[in-house]
Amino acid sequence: MAGLYIHLPFCLSKCPYCSFVSFPRLKHLWKRYVEAVTKDLRRVAQTTEIVAIDTLFLGGGTPTVLPVELLSAILDTCRTFFSLENTAEVSIEANPGTVTKHDLLRLRRSGVNRISFGIQSFNDNELTLLGRPYCSDSAMAALVAARQVGFANISIDLMYGLPGQDRMAWEKNLEELFKIRPDHLSCYQLTIEDGTPFAKRLADGVFSSADEEEIEKMDKLTIEWACAMGLEQYEISNFARPGFECRHNVNYWMNGNYLAAGASAVSCIDGRRQRRVSLPLQYCRMLERGADPVIDEEFLDAQASFRESVVMGLRMVRGVCRKDLVARYGVDVQAYYGPLLVDLQRQGLLVLGETHLWLTARGRRFANRVMAELV
Ligand code: SF4
Repeated sequence: MAGLYIHLPFCLSKCPYCSFVSFPRLKHLWKRYVEAVTKDLRRVAQTTEIVAIDTLFLGGGTPTVLPVELLSAILDTCRTFFSLENTAEVSIEANPGTVTKHDLLRLRRSGVNRISFGIQSFNDNELTLLGRPYCSDSAMAALVAARQVGFANISIDLMYGLPGQDRMAWEKNLEELFKIRPDHLSCYQLTIEDGTPFAKRLADGVFSSADEEEIEKMDKLTIEWACAMGLEQYEISNFARPGFECRHNVNYWMNGNYLAAGASAVSCIDGRRQRRVSLPLQYCRMLERGADPVIDEEFLDAQASFRESVVMGLRMVRGVCRKDLVARYGVDVQAYYGPLLVDLQRQGLLVLGETHLWLTARGRRFANRVMAELV
């Protein structure tokens, strides 16, 4: 079984912190792009032995800026080229202000069974700061509409550590969640990426970086509130009701196989990682003339793949299963890393148990540091 990711790089506007491959004002390209994705999917199907798809993820960008007919067409194409089980997880990313209740109903009817809303904040001032083109009322209305049309698996993305945001403001965001009780929650700390307008404001002294102590308190609040809502932390930034973990992302974290289509989309099958051209117009042109849109390819040897499985798997709270690693690579983590694991355990960052290796709560806080040592 494998996942399939489709990248739809279109947005209503460009958020000032965003470094994703996403573009506003390309409406004239939408239909052409979807036709290119169809060609891409045909190529993918012709060159892989994978037939059965367990998870399908329409991500972006904001996929729901596209009309539902185009999104349904992509789903139909996926079903034409691959076998999508009845139990498959079919996710779409959505933003408030890009879907009506009727759109949501049609998406549900076209087979989407999981919707992930990029809400980011329920505070109007924070939404303005983030350049999000909707208000908290319309965010809540979109979530309520999704429930009303029958989405039983709703995920919400929130962002914390915003300039000027203190823990009380963050807690108010978390309180709002009680009104909708999402099945899944992703909370990401704002990271200011080079080349974005936010990076310039930081450099110009308009912003200051988030206070580390305050962030630590926000992290604790998140875990408390998520727990109060019946959501368990299963990954560094992700919480879910039991059974509602995002299967598509769990497959990434387990270093599983995934196919991909769309501009900039990355696939990885048995250690062979491929990335497609980023610009949507270039992507369309390449597929229209029958060219392969893949522009980068990398082969991970067994050792690199082993280390990647460890590092990605550690993102999950349950950690990595030692037996699975031995079965897949013939290597045990203890034998491979030796004194490094002893040192990381001594620092209280990791635990090497009989069956699993996992990060402690402190280790999750300093995950990047730990992973840099293990990769
Ligand atoms: S909606 Fe998401 S992908 Fe689009 S610009 Fe904003 S952060 Fe980037």
